[in-house]
Amino acid sequence: MLDVRGIRKSFSGFAAVDGVSLGVAAEGITAIIGPNGAGKSTFFNLLTGHLRADAGTVSFEGRDITGAAPHAICRMGIGRSFQHTNIFRKLTVFENVQAALIAHGGKARNFWSCAGALYRDEAWAMLESLGLAEHGRSVADALSHGNQKQLELGIALASNPRLLLLDEPTAGMSAVETRAAIALLERIAADRKLTVLFTEHDMDVVFSIARKIAVLHQGRLIAEGTPAEV
Ligand code: ADP
Ligand code: MG
Repeated sequence: MLDVRGIRKSFSGFAAVDGVSLGVAAEGITAIIGPNGAGKSTFFNLLTGHLRADAGTVSFEGRDITGAAPHAICRMGIGRSFQHTNIFRKLTVFENVQAALIAHGGKARNFWSCAGALYRDEAWAMLESLGLAEHGRSVADALSHGNQKQLELGIALASNPRLLLLDEPTAGMSAVETRAAIALLERIAADRKLTVLFTEHDMDVVFSIARKIAVLHQGRLIAEGTPAEV
């Protein structure tokens, strides 16, 4: 599904991602692990077009997407979340998901239509499946950190991706929140037949759900395989 070849990115001469090649097969959950500063977030940003690679190629479902813009890559079927939560804090939880559905569906281009009436059922259904329906009318800022991360997952899912990239989806969560988040992620990935690539520092999480693990260290891929092999 995803084929990355020799991708590189330097910041002022410092190689943050130093020639990484990685293939990801369709369906199933792959983890990218490595210490802080290993290049995990940079690698994700190269896949999604948020950073431009100095060298190397990325292809998705057989199409070369190297250098494409983030919105174009999203439209092709790659959704993502960010290490630092990226939501509209002053909008309600419902409006956050609704806005994401509208952005992807593109129905709001008619000047005369009222965006507030669009995708209502879809947005509530999404909140239901995330376990956030009871918070739908609260402003997003009022959610717990764990629930904000769930909301961000919903925003990423609103583009109906086939490949979902999650950068530290459980960062800052308590142990209880982490377990709930991982159970939710597994269920959603299975229901939607998603391919998931995620970075994570919690090794219990990684070894409990990843079918494959890739290890980054100082910008290089130093190991790759099943959890047992790694
Ligand atoms: P990880 O996500 O594995 O913790 P990052 O990809 O965030 O690692 O960072 C890899 C390295 O690249 C780090 O040394 C970081 O300081 C550096 N880096 C990341 N982004 C930038 C940037 N925009 N400008 C300069 N250096 C950066
Ligand atoms: Mg990171």
